[in-house]
Amino acid sequence: MPNDFPVLGIRMKDEKLLKDELSGSTAKSYVSHIARFHRIQGSPMYHDAALYVVEELRRIGLKDAEILQFPADGKHKFWTHLSTLGWKVESAELRLVAPKERLMATFEDIPTSLHTFSKGTPSEGVTAELVDVGAGLSEKDYRGKKVKGKLVLATGSARSVHIEAVVKRGAAGVITDSLSFEFPKVRESIDIPDAHSYQGIWPTAENAARVKFGFSLSKRQGNELRGYLRDGKKVKLRAKVDAKLFPGKYDVVTATIKGSSKRREEVFLIAHLCHPKPGANDNASGSGVLMEIARAITALIRSGKMKRPARTIRFFWVPETTGTVALLSTHPEMSSRLIAGMNLDMVGEDQEMCKSTLNICVTPDSLPSYLNDLIMSVVERSAKELDPMDQIGLTSTFRYARTPFSLGSDNAEFVEPSVGVPCVSLTQWPDLFYHTSMDTMDKVSEESLRRVGWIAAVSTLELARADASSGFALASFTCSRGLARIAEAGGKASDELFGARDDAKTKGKGKKLAKLIKHHTSRIEHVVRRELEAARSVRKLGSSNELEDFVKMQTRALAGAGKMELARLDGTIAAIQDGLRVKIPVATVTVAEKESVGLVPKRRFKGNLEFTLLRDFLGEAGFKAYKKVEETDHNFMAKTPEIIYFMDGKRTVDDIVRAVSAEWGPTDHSHVLMYLRDLERMKLVSF
Ligand SMILES: [Zn+2]
Repeated sequence: MPNDFPVLGIRMKDEKLLKDELSGSTAKSYVSHIARFHRIQGSPMYHDAALYVVEELRRIGLKDAEILQFPADGKHKFWTHLSTLGWKVESAELRLVAPKERLMATFEDIPTSLHTFSKGTPSEGVTAELVDVGAGLSEKDYRGKKVKGKLVLATGSARSVHIEAVVKRGAAGVITDSLSFEFPKVRESIDIPDAHSYQGIWPTAENAARVKFGFSLSKRQGNELRGYLRDGKKVKLRAKVDAKLFPGKYDVVTATIKGSSKRREEVFLIAHLCHPKPGANDNASGSGVLMEIARAITALIRSGKMKRPARTIRFFWVPETTGTVALLSTHPEMSSRLIAGMNLDMVGEDQEMCKSTLNICVTPDSLPSYLNDLIMSVVERSAKELDPMDQIGLTSTFRYARTPFSLGSDNAEFVEPSVGVPCVSLTQWPDLFYHTSMDTMDKVSEESLRRVGWIAAVSTLELARADASSGFALASFTCSRGLARIAEAGGKASDELFGARDDAKTKGKGKKLAKLIKHHTSRIEHVVRRELEAARSVRKLGSSNELEDFVKMQTRALAGAGKMELARLDGTIAAIQDGLRVKIPVATVTVAEKESVGLVPKRRFKGNLEFTLLRDFLGEAGFKAYKKVEETDHNFMAKTPEIIYFMDGKRTVDDIVRAVSAEWGPTDHSHVLMYLRDLERMKLVSF
């Protein structure tokens, strides 16, 4: 068991006060209010949700609550992100007219049954024949099929199918029946055959004139239609959609609880407010918890029970990624005040029902921080039954896990080096009902809301109060856990080397061992560098000569531990060589490795790379090269943000590959070179 976090600025009394004040039921009522809105970014329905949040915040006592607006016109670019368009829906329905007559779906009943950003039909609707195009993503899916003026039934993602079927081939509309993400054995269509997946067209201003409409049916409905087609029956459907695209606006809601002495320094909490109705867990839950935290802290300060913290606490409710990028790229003065933060995205899950675990997604290795250990320690404390009279839920049923950094939510926009502010994300993952019509209020647990609210509120207050004097305890704590991670890196090296011992005797002739030695030597060095930086990062909370000396002492301990682990690795290598009476060869150097040593890539863009950009540039055929890479390196695309973050104009490609390999596991130099060369062709990287 790692050591417990010492009590810093926030005392046990305040933790107890928060435990009593934070209400799972109030949080849930905020969640259910937000879940009534179809909150697609850039739409008037999202705007209504933003207005609700602002009004409620003002009522709670956060008088400066306001909406910041940014253009969402499909033309405006924020860093590499092209804004989406505005979208408004009045009504939509899909009817089967042959071989049977039946209502299939209405927007009123199931908002996710309409592809977001669908355009309207003539008022009498569009009646057309249905053609099954398989995935609907490639040339072969359409070979020998006439889709012009017809509806296509496809299993691919709506955005891509619209481009292939409607924009390129003139289809009348698209019908999909697949989940946007499937995880084998956890979440497949077979588990939720009646769910309508959240699918969107996401047109740019450029192709807005040519896109039409689409419906997302359940797998059960899709299979019924496929059955008719297989039996040689003619299938006809009538779609009526009253909706339009127009230049819209992104709304970012922000409010603060002002600090007492360091009010220009801000600790922040963020949640994305967007997503289709109901989107109860994703992410009405994070948005509602943020409101409850704002209410509870304000109430405690007002009543005089709790002292106002030194730093300001800032809250953000945003359209996911798009709104955050719009904000950060246009308000550098705002991001420069931020010290650290937390992102709450899908936090209310009933863990049993949704098959979820609370993931604490830490900062990437390119931005080591004390923040990770601080928040982990609060999570661990929340899982302990300190007092049976006021425990937060039952420890036995609450699952949590520390997970490496990954892209996918708003924390990624803060930790990216153009902003460079540490941010940890809390997310219940996976979730059986994620991005479907079944993400409803009955899946939201008051206990989860209250627990995550407590974790986020306690961590935020610790940060808002931390100063040079609390820096001592924090540095010591981060160092202790860092020492454990360095020892773990050494242990992993020994395990893998002993595990590969037989390689020297077989046809590998020790080549695998040689590779492992190289990898783990570099990995231990990387982990030490990361932990040194994490311990030093506490100086951002306050400075004094004494703290400076203290941090130096901590880093000496970390460096010493690193040397010890490298010596231990040498011992392991010697033991294997002596035991086998063989000499392990020196690892061979590939052509790509040789090339990588002399190349220094430079970034020519800011922010995270918009995630469809590479794929759109290469096209489906060109992108196949990456699918091939992922056959051997399953995480390659997940590694690409870190490849970009490590690109600081000084590191060589070889340095970057080593760093990413240490963080994520062995990575091939040739794959990274291919990626960087593609970015070079897109004029995003130069050498
Ligand atoms: Zn989300």
